[in-house]
Amino acid sequence: MAMQFEKPLPGSTITVYFTVHCFDHKGQHTTRIESLSGLVIQSDNWQDPNSFALQTDNRWFPISVIDLKSVTNIQYASGEEGTQTTIKELPTIQNWSVKSSNPKKPGYTVSLADGKWACSCPGFQFRRECRHINDIKVAVSAS
Ligand SMILES: [Zn+2]
Repeated sequence: MAMQFEKPLPGSTITVYFTVHCFDHKGQHTTRIESLSGLVIQSDNWQDPNSFALQTDNRWFPISVIDLKSVTNIQYASGEEGTQTTIKELPTIQNWSVKSSNPKKPGYTVSLADGKWACSCPGFQFRRECRHINDIKVAVSAS
């Protein structure tokens, strides 16, 4: 289960730490942590619900929009700690091709979507389980 910080309330003075993705001169992907201090201001409707606006004393960019997914820590000037909440991850779908035991027949597709296993073989349609899924589970847990 992924964790994410809750959106700080407008009016809070905070220091927020967040991950910045960048590419160096060789095109290598790197990340670094940056921080900003300022006042959380009221979010507007145009804003992504998963981000918040921070007013800082930077004279060129006085308002920064921070994506909560990138936040690694929030420190409140009041001394409170930021609270984390669990977020629902988007379902991830994985597929595996399985050969049929009969070489004249086409293979089957085993899929794992949002924690649920399925297989395209007739046995699975009938019993909701099959040896193809079991074989993939063994292979996945061994890797
Ligand atoms: Zn199957």
